[in-house]
This record gives sequence, structure tokens and C-alpha cells, in this order.
Amino acid sequence: LASREFRREDTQVAVKNVIFGAKEIPVIAGPCAVESYEQLHQTAIAVKQAGARMLRGGAYKPRTSPYSFQGLEKEGLEILQAVGRETGLPVITEVTDTRAVELVADYADMLQIGARNMQNFALLKEVAQIKKPVLLKRGVSATVEEWLMAAEYIMVGGNEAVVLCERGIRSFETYTRNTLDLSVVPLIKHLSHFPIIVDPSHGTGKWRLVGPMAKAAVAAGADGLLIEVHPWPEDALSDGPQSLTPANFNQLMQELADIAQAV
Ligand code: PEP
Ligand code: MN
Repeated sequence: LASREFRREDTQVAVKNVIFGAKEIPVIAGPCAVESYEQLHQTAIAVKQAGARMLRGGAYKPRTSPYSFQGLEKEGLEILQAVGRETGLPVITEVTDTRAVELVADYADMLQIGARNMQNFALLKEVAQIKKPVLLKRGVSATVEEWLMAAEYIMVGGNEAVVLCERGIRSFETYTRNTLDLSVVPLIKHLSHFPIIVDPSHGTGKWRLVGPMAKAAVAAGADGLLIEVHPWPEDALSDGPQSLTPANFNQLMQELADIAQAV
């Protein structure tokens, strides 16, 4: 069902007024984690002003260490929904647990399945049953085949609104957090009808690399971008080193416009 053979034309996925897989290249921006109303509100105003079409913010954070900030959970969902309504930006957040799917779907316009859960089949089956679009991130060690099979789980379960997201894979390189595999953009477009977006923030782990990789992703044909933005990255509770300041994000959005014109 996920393959190009099953459906020749591109699938378009609508999240309220934002369409993935059409001509536009929507940018999802926001902090790694929702930390406070003030933090998210400031970020949302700035990214909207710069041209972002959707707001992100994690309420349930899948952290490597159990001692790291785990997210504000339900309070984070409430803040995200409130700020989304105030700014008119549709919101996306990650769901990490089958028991939280209904709750998260009540607050978010799009659900994110994170890299660590790409093959959490119970979770895939659960999001297949809700009527909200799903952003399916590529697992840290997932092949393209495994990734498309994960999308297949969601589609066969009844939810066709799937957007794929390349966020880098594990390699021997340690200087970057992950190795961003931009070759999957044209490859997925050949193999599948689903839209594919790119997350250069987790893909590199370093804010200086985010802009160049975002531009390369658009040049490669990506249907959108996911970019972490924090108003004060040095004090961020998660992923500060890869977060753009609002000023840097604004600059990038201007540079992206020229590249989007050319592709
Ligand atoms: C995130 O988007 O904040 C996140 C945790 O991403 P990933 O699942 O790609 O690591
Ligand atoms: Mn993050």
C-alpha cells in the first residue's frame, strides 16, 4: 500500500490548512521540548513571522537517560494547543506510548512517531486507528524497506495520512549526531507515494549544519522540513546544541525561499 506501484500519483497529506506533498514546502518549527508557556509562545510568534507553517514541541520526550528532562506531559500538550490556537499554527507533537495516543490526538493536529519507536508495532497499530495525520520518522538504524513497512502498518490499519521524515541514521561518524541520508528523498519518491520531509536538526545535532542541510534537502526535492528553534538555545532543556535562534531561523527561511523557487 505504501508503494508507488499501489498508487502512482503523490499522496497529499493535509494538516488543517497545511498540505504536504503538493507544490509548497511547509516548514515545521519549534523547540525540541515544550518547557513553558513563555518559551513556546515566544518561539511560535517568531517562527510564524519567519514563515513556518506548523509548530512543534515535545511533551513526552524519549530521552537516552532516565535522569534527563522527560517532558511536561499533559501540561505540555495544553501549552502546545493553547499557543497553536493563539498563533493559528497547526501543532505536532510526539506520542511515545500506546496508552497516550488518544490523549495526544485530542491536543495535536498531527502525531509524531519518533525514530526510537519506528518499529513499535503496537504504537503503529494504535495511530493507524485515529483520524489524525502521522509523521513517521526513520528509525536510527532502519533500512528504507523497514521504514516503508512501518508506514504500511499505519496504512493497512486504516490511516492513509502518513508523512515520512528522514532524521539521520547511525553511522561510524561521531562528529555529527547522526548521518543525514539525503539520498532517501529521491529514493522514497521513486518507491513510494508518501510525502517525505527532512529534519536536519536531529540529522546533524549541530546548529551550524542545520541551514546548509535544510537547503540541500529542499534542493533534493523534500516536501517539507522540520527544524528545532529555541529562543535561548544555551538554556534549552533538550537539544540546545542543534537549535536555531529565531534570528538564525529567520535568515534561513529567506535563503530557502530562493532555493524553493529554483526546484
Ligand atoms: C524530536 O523530534 O524531538 C525527536 C525526539 O526526534 P527523533 O525521534 O528523530 O530523535
Ligand atoms: Mn529534539
